[in-house]
Amino acid sequence: MSEILDMFACPIDGTKIDANLTCEKGHRFSYIDGIYDFLGKELKTHDVLEKVTPIYENVWAPLGFLITAGRTYSSIMEEAGNYVSGKVVLDVGTGTGKLFDYTGCERCVGLDISTKFLRVMLSKRSKVIAVKGDARKLPFKAEVFDGVASLFVLHMLDNPSLAVHEISRVMKRDARCVIAILTSGNFIASILGKWWKISLKHRDFYLSSIKEAGLELEDSKRMGPWLLLKCKKSRHF
Ligand SMILES: [Zn+2]
Repeated sequence: MSEILDMFACPIDGTKIDANLTCEKGHRFSYIDGIYDFLGKELKTHDVLEKVTPIYENVWAPLGFLITAGRTYSSIMEEAGNYVSGKVVLDVGTGTGKLFDYTGCERCVGLDISTKFLRVMLSKRSKVIAVKGDARKLPFKAEVFDGVASLFVLHMLDNPSLAVHEISRVMKRDARCVIAILTSGNFIASILGKWWKISLKHRDFYLSSIKEAGLELEDSKRMGPWLLLKCKKSRHF
């Protein structure tokens, strides 16, 4: 437990978190039912996602990705998991934590804004540390992770580049990250974007966000409307 506490930092001011989950400036967080809660309130999860939580991993995602990406959900997760595998791995917007079936991590941290998803994750994958938090203000110290994934999440945020910067901040030098997003400029993407009520950003937006955050692009793969980006944290940033 103390080792886990060592990784945390206050998402508001970045100061240390003590054993009572209180920061140096007095912000208090909680640990309830196996979940470290750094939000303190219920941020709105996407309505569609909230409804499909119970069937997300076994029906919703496999069917959705097979149709839109033309490949299986588990093959995408496997590719991503292998790429970010390392001692300490974070999955931002982890959902049910499926990524951790394919990552050889000693310390595996799954972050999500949804308590509902984190509960499902804990019931399926009890070794994963469940953290409720905001991708744009990660509750971790700088340079603690060997690998970070964020799959099918960042396009749902108003400002995805904030999350990209946060991902880079918590990565060690030479650590790897994998990001999958829905980008504009594709017919299926425009249908999905309308349905989800999100305004999609172009591929170039993400590529420049990554660069500005000090990440080097190692590979970019198109999967229908989805874009899979593999990056490494630059040593010189
Ligand atoms: Zn604080």
